[in-house]
Amino acid sequence: LEVEEWRRCAHQMVDFIADYYRDIATFPVRSQVEPGYLKALLPEAAPEDPEKLDDVLADVRTKILPGITHWQSPSFFAYYPSNGSTAGYLGEMLSGGLNVIGFSWISSPAATELETIVLDWLGKLLELPQQFLSCGGGSGVIQGTASEAVCVVLLAARRRSALKLMAQGILECEAFGKLSAYVSDQTHFCVQKAAQIAGVAANLRVIPTDSSTNFALSPSALRKALAEDIASGYTPFFLCGTVGTTSSAAVDPLGELGDIAQEHELWFHVDAAYAGNACICPENRHNLEGVDKADSYCMNPHKWLLCNFDCSTLWVKHPKFLTDALSTRPEVLRNKATDANAVVDLKDLQIPLGRRFRSLKLWFIMRLYGASGLRSYIRNHISAAKHLESLIIASDRFEMVVPRNFSLVCFRLKAHEDDSARGNTLNATLLEAVNIRGECFLTHTILDGVYTLRMAVGSTRTELQHVKDAWAIINHEADRLISIS
Ligand code: PLP
Repeated sequence: LEVEEWRRCAHQMVDFIADYYRDIATFPVRSQVEPGYLKALLPEAAPEDPEKLDDVLADVRTKILPGITHWQSPSFFAYYPSNGSTAGYLGEMLSGGLNVIGFSWISSPAATELETIVLDWLGKLLELPQQFLSCGGGSGVIQGTASEAVCVVLLAARRRSALKLMAQGILECEAFGKLSAYVSDQTHFCVQKAAQIAGVAANLRVIPTDSSTNFALSPSALRKALAEDIASGYTPFFLCGTVGTTSSAAVDPLGELGDIAQEHELWFHVDAAYAGNACICPENRHNLEGVDKADSYCMNPHKWLLCNFDCSTLWVKHPKFLTDALSTRPEVLRNKATDANAVVDLKDLQIPLGRRFRSLKLWFIMRLYGASGLRSYIRNHISAAKHLESLIIASDRFEMVVPRNFSLVCFRLKAHEDDSARGNTLNATLLEAVNIRGECFLTHTILDGVYTLRMAVGSTRTELQHVKDAWAIINHEADRLISIS
């Protein structure tokens, strides 16, 4: 790396990205390429001789950008958002520039210490109980994704419970087969994957939900499943509650679930990947009531707190259970601070060894926006989503499928109750007609058999006008569809 050359190229790249943001509205939000499009455009092997950056960037413009779905477009309403911001980019750039691998404290003391500090800051903004913060014996640790977060806590919970069974004379290999875990049918599928990794998927109980609870997990259904398992000789060990489910942003009743978890000594994990971010606003904080009964809590600032991917923040009350499950002490990493147990080595709270200096971007974001800036950011999206909800409620032909939660609006074209299949086809056709235009991008879910359009308002640059524009497009396509059907 030659410094002046690096400076020149990096400036060129910044200009390229700035131009991309300037022109982002000119690209179709959802990529329109066909599968395999890129193979036909690129050579079969790497170049033997160095090429020029200008030539590579020209290829990015003509060959890569067409295959990009523009998550940073203000008219991106699909899935859940993936935020980016000036502060987030600056932190990300600095992290890439310093390029340190902070697996242990000594491998870059600032990386470990800043992570602890910013997770305490963020935990305080969320009003998490002290036991999750460093001053209360807890620990915050940044994972790449909520999937990794649930995987590490599930492994910790599995070990904690397996040890209890082993103390009763049960062999370790048999213990895993006796453990049962509990989720709802709205829980993100990453818990299923974590259970597969942990070898406990066979006894993952998926509790059905329905519209009577707005798709939240019912405590009485959970109690019933627990009683059946206990009667059959299983040892319940893990429960995942969600604040803001992926389909419809349902909120599980944390307080009641937490009481059940404590009664049965379950590890209670709260997944608030998307909606947890909104809880930095006092008016949304009630959604986290009961989190004090949880063992672990996770949310993704990369979804909705201006943080460039990746940054999933996990807090645990008892980091010891994670380190018991994940810690290794190889000779090559030995050092005075670790040997003296004077530090946390964050490699012991995650699956990989290597880790990026991700706390920098959160630190930049919290400093450059301030808590007040972050709160008004969230409030703007929620208020735009409320506006959309009011338009849907006022409309003759659309209806809300579930009440809006946070900034997610779930709706559909009304259909005759006696012809639900036709209603589903009509809505699926409408969604495709909207997305193919390229001016905005929405996705769908199915709730209780009902094909539902989801509009998640949360991209960094989304303003009320983008929501109004998308609503006009949806109505225009609905007009066309109804006139030809
Ligand atoms: N949990 C919830 C509620 C989600 O909505 C998602 C993704 O949208 C996830 C977990 C998984 O997130 P990640 O991609 O960080 O693993």
